[in-house]
Amino acid sequence: MTHPAQPKASHFINGEYVEDTAGTPIPVIYAATGEQITTVYAATPAIVEQALSTAKAAQKEWAKMTGTERGRVLRRAADIMRERNHDLSVLETYDTGKPLQETLVADATSGADALEYFGGLAASLTGEHIPLGEDWVYTKREALGLCVGIGAWNYPTQIACWKGAPALACGNSMVFKPSETTPLCALKVAEILIEAGAPAGVFNVVQGMGEVGGALVTDPRVDKVSLTGSVPTGKKVYAAAAEGMKHVTMELGGKSPLIIFDDADIDNAVGGAINGNFYSSGQVCSNGTRVFVQKGIKEKFLARLAERTGNAILGDPMDEATSFGPMVTENQMNIVLGYIEKGKEEGARLICGGRRADMDGYFIEPTVFADVTDDMTIAREEIFGPVMSVLDFDTEEEVVARANDTEFGLSAGVFTKDFTRAHRVIGNLEAGSCFINSYNDAPVEAPFGGVKASGVGRENSKEAIKHFSQVKSVYVRMGDVEAAF
Ligand code: NDP
Repeated sequence: MTHPAQPKASHFINGEYVEDTAGTPIPVIYAATGEQITTVYAATPAIVEQALSTAKAAQKEWAKMTGTERGRVLRRAADIMRERNHDLSVLETYDTGKPLQETLVADATSGADALEYFGGLAASLTGEHIPLGEDWVYTKREALGLCVGIGAWNYPTQIACWKGAPALACGNSMVFKPSETTPLCALKVAEILIEAGAPAGVFNVVQGMGEVGGALVTDPRVDKVSLTGSVPTGKKVYAAAAEGMKHVTMELGGKSPLIIFDDADIDNAVGGAINGNFYSSGQVCSNGTRVFVQKGIKEKFLARLAERTGNAILGDPMDEATSFGPMVTENQMNIVLGYIEKGKEEGARLICGGRRADMDGYFIEPTVFADVTDDMTIAREEIFGPVMSVLDFDTEEEVVARANDTEFGLSAGVFTKDFTRAHRVIGNLEAGSCFINSYNDAPVEAPFGGVKASGVGRENSKEAIKHFSQVKSVYVRMGDVEAAF
């Protein structure tokens, strides 16, 4: 019997599903049970060629349409996604293992927000008029051309939309490669865009591992690469893109600080730490995994945190009561368990969790370590799982220096009732996406992205438009041309 999550075929090119079983089979595993639910096939060179040539050919006509027309397509797609939110959320849960309680409110909904937001902006993408006496310069905001999107496995619907929506709004076409771990959701995004009226070939999806991504990134027809992934992959993809002088957006990993001063509201700070470490079972790039707590409130904070973490409901992700799901794969579970062992070995104090949950699937208990020091592995490396490190601090100056002592710079958060201090501390932190008395909100209206090794460029907001378009400037002379001879 076919599984409800099984796609019609592995790839979506030129407005339709396309199959080529000559590609490497990619088993799709449901993380909550470990069962294989379906198989997709990695793109063969012929499939990659089909996707790129189709997207290249479709782009020019798409860019000729008015912004209003392009925006209408994106906004229709947003409406369809919202109408089908339940089914898309179930699919997201099969793809990632994340609980339905989350996917119902954070995935297709976030994707729809991006489609709606950039659909709304599409008609207002204009240049400017620069008067120069009698002469003038005008600028045009033009599409880059053919864009490649490459996604990580934690938010497959959202990542496809966060890249696809601004790209298409600006008149580009896209070939999107999801992570091999979560190949299902982006296909639905492609299907919905066609249903909403996008011309065939404007948004295509091909499956595959890094080598398919590599083939896309190095193709001379590609003008821009937008990657969501780890820092090591980001370095490789950035270098390959530089070789062809392509534009890039790099949304990479982090080891972000969340600083809690002793005047903070403890329950709000605990809530922020939970949202910044345990949502999507900790598989979120912007997570505040180094939780610096001022010494005066440390034990009170830890006690409340342990109590509330104990309320997490691990279980069947399709049950809406479940609030905490499995790791996306067995491999990711083992990586995270390895970090937990390192934390224990290096002398951190285990407050709660710390082991694989006694149930089917790849569940790890939400884990909190206290007395973590800056040099410990769990305080330095991105874990990408439900492991929170709590570190103590005395002074503002000290905590800012320690928070910045990392190669990463994606996010940062501060909890305090002293607003002068909140803004001063945020001003001194090296991070792209920051929070005051909150953590991990990602509205489409706000720019999102990192500094230092965490990335280049910004997604969402009007900033994303700058990264999916370029400016042509045109000098217009009204009088005669003067020349030396
Ligand atoms: P990876 O870096 O392993 O992979 C990211 C994507 O790149 C995958 O689709 C992968 O394919 C592809 N890829 C791998 N090698 C190459 C290559 N040489 N050329 C082109 N493409 C390649 O990341 P994960 O999927 O493991 O995701 C987790 C990481 O993503 C974490 O570090 C996390 O912090 C980061 N992330 C960042 C976010 C942000 O917005 N800043 C958001 C979410 C996650 P395949 O997987 O099929 O091998």
